[in-house]
Amino acid sequence: MAEQTLGKPEELSRLRVAFRGELIDPGHPAYDTERRVYNAMIDRRPALIAQCRDAADVIAAVQYARSVDLPVSIRGGGHNGAGLALCDGGLTIDLSRMKGIRVDPWNRQVRVDGGCTQGEVDHATHAFGLAVPAGTVANTGIGGLTLGGGHGYLVRRWGLTIDNLIEADVVLANGEMVRASEQENADLFWAIRGGGGNFGVVTSFLFRAHPVSTVVAGPMLWPLEQTTDILHWYREYHPSAPDTMYGFPAMLRVPPAPFFPTEHHGRPVCGIVWCYSGAVEDGMRLMDEIRRMLPKPLIDMVGPMPFPALQSMFDPLIPPGLQWYWKGDFFDHLPDEAIAIHQRFGAIIPGGISTMHLYPVDGAASRVPSNATAFSYREARWSMVIAGIHPEPSGAGEIRSWAQSYWEELHPYSLGGAYVNFMMEEGTERVQATYRGNYERLQSIKAKYDPGNLFRFNQNIAPATQAATAEH
Ligand code: FAD
Repeated sequence: MAEQTLGKPEELSRLRVAFRGELIDPGHPAYDTERRVYNAMIDRRPALIAQCRDAADVIAAVQYARSVDLPVSIRGGGHNGAGLALCDGGLTIDLSRMKGIRVDPWNRQVRVDGGCTQGEVDHATHAFGLAVPAGTVANTGIGGLTLGGGHGYLVRRWGLTIDNLIEADVVLANGEMVRASEQENADLFWAIRGGGGNFGVVTSFLFRAHPVSTVVAGPMLWPLEQTTDILHWYREYHPSAPDTMYGFPAMLRVPPAPFFPTEHHGRPVCGIVWCYSGAVEDGMRLMDEIRRMLPKPLIDMVGPMPFPALQSMFDPLIPPGLQWYWKGDFFDHLPDEAIAIHQRFGAIIPGGISTMHLYPVDGAASRVPSNATAFSYREARWSMVIAGIHPEPSGAGEIRSWAQSYWEELHPYSLGGAYVNFMMEEGTERVQATYRGNYERLQSIKAKYDPGNLFRFNQNIAPATQAATAEH
C-alpha cells in the first residue's frame, strides 16, 4: 500500500538520487520523532517526510510529489495550532533543517531560510542592534508566521512581518523556482503576504530590519477582580499611545515559574504585557506614568531588557508537546459586555496555562490599505487568541469546550473573521471570513500558480475555476 502511494520504485529512486537531505518513511527509526509537531494533539502520518537541506531538495521533492500525485504539506517551525505542517498519507516537505541567516547591517536587511525560527532570526539580528518585526514566542517558525501576516511587539511601529518582507524565493507547484517581490511576480508577492502556504514553498525570505536593542518591557498582573478597571483604562489609553508603546492584555493564571512569587502560582489574573521600543529613558518614564494611573499590580516585572529576552520570555512556560486548542477573531473595539466575558472566562481558565491574548495590530499595520496585501483586517485594533492549553491528553476535551464557549460569547463583538494563524481547521466559511474582499483575487492567483491544489494542507484557498479565472 505504502509503495503504491509512493509511486513506482524508479520514481522514488529518482528522488533519492536528486535529494541531499533525509527521506523518512514510516519504516524509518526516526519517523515517529520527526512527525511530531508543537501541538501534541496532532497525530498525522505522512507517507514520506522529505527533510530538505536546500532549495534544490525542495524542487526535487515537489517534482516527485507531482509525478506520483501525492498531496504536499509544508513544515516550517511546526508551530501551527491546527498542525497544518503535516498531512496524512501525503508528502511533508520539511524545511526545519534549512537554517541559513545572513544579516546585511549596512542595508538593514536579513535573508532567512524557510526553516528558521523567530528566535534564530532575533539572535542573528540582535548582534547588529536590529530586529525584524515578528511574533511573541521565539520557537515559532518564521515561515508560517510570515506567510499568515505576523504580528508582535513591534507591529505598531513598523507593521506586520509581511510589511517588512522585501522578497521571497518560492518553489511553485510545477517545480519552478521564482522570486516574488513588488517588481517580480507581483501578484504572487501580494498573495503570499497573508495567504499562507497556498502558493508554493518559500525557501528564503528577505526582510527589512529595524534598530531595536534594549526595550522597556515585561508583564504587569492584577487580581482577576480588577479586570474591568484595567481593561476600561486600557481601551482608552492604548489606541492613543505612541507607536513605540505596545501592550497586550491577557487573561491567565499566574504560571508556576520560579520568577513569579510562589504564593500567587495558579491565581487567575488579568495582565498587560508591555514593550516600549523607543529610547529607554522615555520608556521608563512612560511606565511610571502608567503605574500612577493604575491600581498597584500584584506582580510588576517591567524593566529594561534585551529585545530577544522579551521575545523568548514565555517559551519555557509553553514547551512543545502540550495539548493546544485555539480560536481567534479580530476586534476594533472593546465594549463593556466583552470585558465582562473576559472576566467571567478568566475565572475558569482550565489546565493551569490556558490563556487569552488580545494582540494589538493597529499603528503602522493599520496604515496599510486592506487590499494592499492578502491580509485584509487592517482596520482591526486587536487580534485575539483564546488558547486552551493542557499538559495531558486527558485535558483535551476541557480546553476545547472552554475555548469554544469563550469564543462563541465574544464572536458577536468581533469584526467577523480571525487571523489565519490563530485558526484550527474551521471550514471554508471561516477562511473566507479571514480574507473577505481579498478572497476572490486569492482564488485567481491560486488558479494561476497552483491550479491542481497541490499545496492544500493549509487554510486552503480553493483555486478559481477556469471560467471564474477568465473573468479576472
Ligand atoms: P508550521 O506548523 O511549520 O506550518 C504551518 C503552515 O505554514 C504550513 O501548513 C504551511 O502552509 C505554511 N508554511 C510554513 N512555512 C512555510 C514555507 N517556508 N513556505 C510555504 N508555506 C509554509 N503568530 C503571530 O503572528 N504572532 C505571535 O505572536 C504568535 N505567537 C504564537 C505563539 C505560540 C505559542 C504559537 C503556537 C503560535 C503563535 N503564533 C503567532 C502563530 C504562528 O504564526 C503560527 O502557528 C504559524 O503557523 C507558525 O509557523 P510555523 O512555520 O512554525 O508553522
